[in-house]
Amino acid sequence: MNLPLNIDFTGKTVVVTGAGGVLCGDMARAFAQAGAKVALLDLNEEAVVNLSNKLNEEGYKTKGYKANVLEPEMLEEVHQAVLKDFGPCDILVNGAGGNNPRATTDNEYQHEAKEGQKTFFDLDASGVDFVFKLNFQGTLIPTQIFAKDMVEKKSGSILNISSMNAYTPLTKIPAYSGAKAAISNFTQWLATHFAGTGIRCNAIAPGFLVSNQNRALLFNEDGTPTARSEKILKGTPMNRFVDSEELLGGVFFLCDDKAASAITGVVLPIDAGFAAYSGV
Ligand code: NAD
Repeated sequence: MNLPLNIDFTGKTVVVTGAGGVLCGDMARAFAQAGAKVALLDLNEEAVVNLSNKLNEEGYKTKGYKANVLEPEMLEEVHQAVLKDFGPCDILVNGAGGNNPRATTDNEYQHEAKEGQKTFFDLDASGVDFVFKLNFQGTLIPTQIFAKDMVEKKSGSILNISSMNAYTPLTKIPAYSGAKAAISNFTQWLATHFAGTGIRCNAIAPGFLVSNQNRALLFNEDGTPTARSEKILKGTPMNRFVDSEELLGGVFFLCDDKAASAITGVVLPIDAGFAAYSGV
């Protein structure tokens, strides 16, 4: 992978949750290539162990750990293992997150609802809980565990992952939109709370990427774009999806103590212009 910025993270311990996924797997690789020791955390142990093995074969310092971001005891065990393997956490990327079909409506507008569709009134409360918990608590709990290292060191950087729907909600996914709005808000809260400790906290808000969690919403089974996909591109001034590697410049910049030394509490859209465009 070609790194977007020449920032040296040698000596830093970076913890990435959700590193078994598309976006955070790329982030983990980028930090490793930039010299960091990288702890890859994910519920999907196989994914992080495979990626870590691959990276280590290429000469990088990484390790995959099975971790559930919603289980504090399990995370504390992983924290102790990371301390032993790599030392205290300098950079935490809270990447684990996502939506769930149980919290998604079939229709965009109630007045267009057709017989048999799952409408707003059919949303499953446990599905809504799942999405809020995964995205919000799944950021809060790892921060409770790993930011302790940063408080002790009087330095560190936390990066959360927000989304376009935090600015204006997207149709069909009310819980995910609300949960990501909570992440933007929480990023500001953490930035303020930790301001006197030397810890900075920022977020990126990726635009529309093609990944596991949204592939079915963007493409039909035969690979053609869905109507939703066409709508997204119409609302994106650069008229294209964002590539996962295009997030890395923002990630490196916000996590670097020199480049972003006075930047805390910001949510950086990386979205090919989507959030800037009113649609007219
Ligand atoms: P992904 O589904 O590829 O990866 C998410 C990873 O999180 C998976 O490997 C999954 O196993 C892991 N995970 C799920 N629950 C977990 C838990 N309880 N504990 C630990 N790990 C868990 O998703 P992605 O597209 O790479 O998204 C990464 C982040 O970026 C998410 O927070 C997502 O909401 C956000 N995001 C994605 C997009 C997009 O278009 N893909 C846009 C904006 C924001």
